[in-house]
Amino acid sequence: MANLGKEPVSLLITGAWVLTMNPQQEVFSPGAVALVDDQIVAVGPLAELQARYAPAQVLDYPQGLIAPGLINAHTHAAMALFRGLADDLPLDEWLNNYIFPAESRINGDFVYWGTKLAVAEMLLSGTTTFTDMYLFAGDVARAVAETGIRAVVGEVLYDFPSPNYGPPAAGLKYSEDLCRTYQDHPLIQVAIQPHAVYTCSPELLLQCGELAEKYDTRLIMHLSETPQEVRDCQAKYGATPVGHLYRLGLLNHRLLADHAVELSVADRMLFAASRGGVAHCPESNMKLASGIAPVVDLLKRGVPVALGTDGCASNNNLDLIQEMDTAAKLQKVHCQDPTVLPAPTALKMATVNGARVLGLQDQVGALVPGLKGDIMVIDLDQPHLTPLYDPYSHLVYAATGADVQTVLVHGRVLVQDRCLTSFDLEETLARARELAGGLLAKKVGNLASRLG
Ligand SMILES: [Zn+2]
Repeated sequence: MANLGKEPVSLLITGAWVLTMNPQQEVFSPGAVALVDDQIVAVGPLAELQARYAPAQVLDYPQGLIAPGLINAHTHAAMALFRGLADDLPLDEWLNNYIFPAESRINGDFVYWGTKLAVAEMLLSGTTTFTDMYLFAGDVARAVAETGIRAVVGEVLYDFPSPNYGPPAAGLKYSEDLCRTYQDHPLIQVAIQPHAVYTCSPELLLQCGELAEKYDTRLIMHLSETPQEVRDCQAKYGATPVGHLYRLGLLNHRLLADHAVELSVADRMLFAASRGGVAHCPESNMKLASGIAPVVDLLKRGVPVALGTDGCASNNNLDLIQEMDTAAKLQKVHCQDPTVLPAPTALKMATVNGARVLGLQDQVGALVPGLKGDIMVIDLDQPHLTPLYDPYSHLVYAATGADVQTVLVHGRVLVQDRCLTSFDLEETLARARELAGGLLAKKVGNLASRLG
């Protein structure tokens, strides 16, 4: 009886490498992860775990690299339906002439299917948690619950009427209802998400802060994304966006600032003292020519900096593995120093720091006993990943999302051998093509005029 005296576990995942991202950054090769239901119970050398546990199921990847599932700290998932609709434009023209008009016509059905499309892309490329800011957040949450991914969702709030809830006061009520509905959901957290300082009055921001405190959740907003935003804020309020939030009493541990590109030294000092977090979105910042966030300096000051893709219309994908590569290289060229932001730090931003800025560090972000089973497996059995000298290097600089083979969220296998298991990809793609129909006719008309 080979299993005599062994402890029963529900699942054992084995691989050539296990990157734990625990505080000691332990690596096991070969290694394994044991789970009981939704929880990790052990991580260690393969032989040790095989000797100790009798698993009901084994997922065996002799050429697999096992790592924590990735955490996308800022996106607008349903914008996957706007991918490629308008590119190569300045931010204000892109937003005002293309994105806002397209968004003024959307509804809950559009957001639901757009989110499912994005979840398919995220799961298949190793993302297990995403932070979403969008309209019709109730429909985002519905898509999240159905697909089994983990998410922090929030209705985007601003001073003008929304196609979802109407006037701003109704948006606060809508957010509060969402907080109540999902208070005890194992996969969904609700955050309060005012859009930015240039679209939200100080009164609205204060009300958002109160709501975040009442429900003990995050306050998430775009902040200091461009030099123009900082100049406008200074002209209107006599302070930088960071200084403005400080004066309003909103610069604290609840704050997750998306982008944080244009920061003065005083801003950085204030931010570091606040214990707030940053979601760095390098590809969006590059594509919209917003600037380069001072990531290395923020990390030095102890600010937790996580990684986000931003929406698909300004990236143009949700591949966090590529985003790690870009984040590392952008800081190297920015600092003119190849030693800054090394590969393990890039992975830490997309895992441990992501969990921390969302207040989820007791649930996800590392392969540690007691945390939830949010895990990805990379298929190393490929020309661009063979031979392997350093697993961090391959994951950050050589792999892409397409190399993800298997993904678990909350101990449940949602991607197995590159196939989604929890929902129908064909149906999702068909609905995406259908929903894009009206926009496509208009776009094709415009394309001809751009050829000259
Ligand atoms: Zn954004």
